[in-house]
Amino acid sequence: EVEHGTALDLFRAAVARAPETAAIRYFDGQLTLADVDSASDALAVALQDNGFRPGDRLGVYVQNNPAFVVAVVAAWKAGGAAVVINPMNKARELSYLLTDSGATALVCLDELLPVARQVLDSGVTKVSTVITCSARDWQTRDDPRVMPQAEVDRGQALDLLGLVDRYAGHTPVADPPSPSDVAVLTYTSGTTGEPKGAMNTHAVIAFNAQAFRDWMGITPADSVLGVAPLFHITGLVGHFALSLLVPCPLVLVHRFQPEVVLDAIREHRPTFTIGAITAFISLSAVEGVSAEDFRSFRLVYSGGAPVPPAVNQQFQDRTGHYIHNAYGLTETTSITHLVPPGTRAPVDPASGALSIGLPIFGTAVRILDDAGAEAPVGQVGEIAIAGPQVVPGYWRKPEATASALPDGEMRTGDVGFMDADGWFFAVDRKKDMINAAGYKVWPREVEDVLYTHPAVLEAAVVGVPDAYRGESVKAFVTLKPGTSTTPDDLIAHCRNEMAAYKYPREIEILPELPKTPTGKILRRHLRDR
Ligand code: ATP
Repeated sequence: EVEHGTALDLFRAAVARAPETAAIRYFDGQLTLADVDSASDALAVALQDNGFRPGDRLGVYVQNNPAFVVAVVAAWKAGGAAVVINPMNKARELSYLLTDSGATALVCLDELLPVARQVLDSGVTKVSTVITCSARDWQTRDDPRVMPQAEVDRGQALDLLGLVDRYAGHTPVADPPSPSDVAVLTYTSGTTGEPKGAMNTHAVIAFNAQAFRDWMGITPADSVLGVAPLFHITGLVGHFALSLLVPCPLVLVHRFQPEVVLDAIREHRPTFTIGAITAFISLSAVEGVSAEDFRSFRLVYSGGAPVPPAVNQQFQDRTGHYIHNAYGLTETTSITHLVPPGTRAPVDPASGALSIGLPIFGTAVRILDDAGAEAPVGQVGEIAIAGPQVVPGYWRKPEATASALPDGEMRTGDVGFMDADGWFFAVDRKKDMINAAGYKVWPREVEDVLYTHPAVLEAAVVGVPDAYRGESVKAFVTLKPGTSTTPDDLIAHCRNEMAAYKYPREIEILPELPKTPTGKILRRHLRDR
């Protein structure tokens, strides 16, 4: 049953119920829910004292550390919204996000201060308050895994822990946010033009955090492992909002490094996680990893990218866990579909792909044909989604909103279909389709076949210009440690498994594949090579 209200209401209810619950476990540091509550109260008052007003935006430019959680909750308590910024962003990108969102304050990790200064000194933003923090905050011992970087000159910037101390015991005064207020602006990565800020309101976050809780059956006895970045919608909802709502501990490591994440698993024994499939590929490829390491898990979900069936099988062989598929977008505040716990995704008999699952409650999904009409069962078309987790639009971009979200229904840009039992399949991204001599080739199907080769660790397939066919199929792969193969061997493997127009004519073996910070393989970078 869904409680309505704001993400802040849900957090406050959890604090009232279980203040002593461990909210965050970060290396050897731990914050209870009461600690997050008091630190975010103090930071909210500090922000207000520095001119932050209801409706203002706070930039959050940090990694997966406690400061992220405290800063976002503080922005809400001060009556504003958070703009969550990828810490890998450089000055040009940071400048765009701060100016587009109109942020007036910024919480920034020490090591990112030089980048932030470059932007702030240029005078193009409205940021007047800079608060800095360290990846070592809330640590009791100097753990070399936390942050090997040298000390940074903090200059005029305020210190987050210092503010939390100075304003301890103060409570912010602001009208409580309403469900339709923007809670977080999450920016798309800008594959199609300039990045757009999806307006994740309190209502959409509250709805989908509860959807996670209820579908996955997360209780206070669980513990969530944060493998996705918190600034990305998967981490924001499936880690941050979920764990604060239940409440249950959130295990954080500042960024995804498989060995460090494994240490955290061994130390904190999490029970649930959701992340990009590449995270699971690299975790299970760590030397010496065993099923014992994953014993504490109750449920493992992959979201944000397709789950190749062969990878799922290999992960299961290695760790004993089946990877449940979940599907969603930034604009749908994470999940719209999932494979319910305890069930196995059906397989598309034609392509061998795994289903992305069933729509979650309240979610209406249509498959649209090229003319925009609803396609019959089994027919491939664009996936369009309406529901209580769909954002009302992009920040100050009415045209982009009107074209992506006509009548509030999200046109996902993914093509897929529904089978006769109501299970959905995402075939691929519309724009990634390869047209090889007039035949449609979906890269994902070719990748799935590559993953069945014993030496292939990761695979990405793109279309490349071809004088004869228009486009031809090209694959890039990385190999599992300790294995070897040749492009010819891989081509022969594919040729045995698929129609002549689909198999890759060219394969390049690379040391690694380009990825987004969430771990999604960047096909477009490979296409541009
Ligand atoms: P951009 O920021 O440029 O829009 P993006 O499209 O990766 O990047 P996200 O909102 O992070 O933005 O990702 C949503 C997309 O991820 C979906 O449109 C879909 O293509 C893909 N995706 C998500 N979950 C799945 C899944 N379970 N199976 C297949 N694809 C998925």
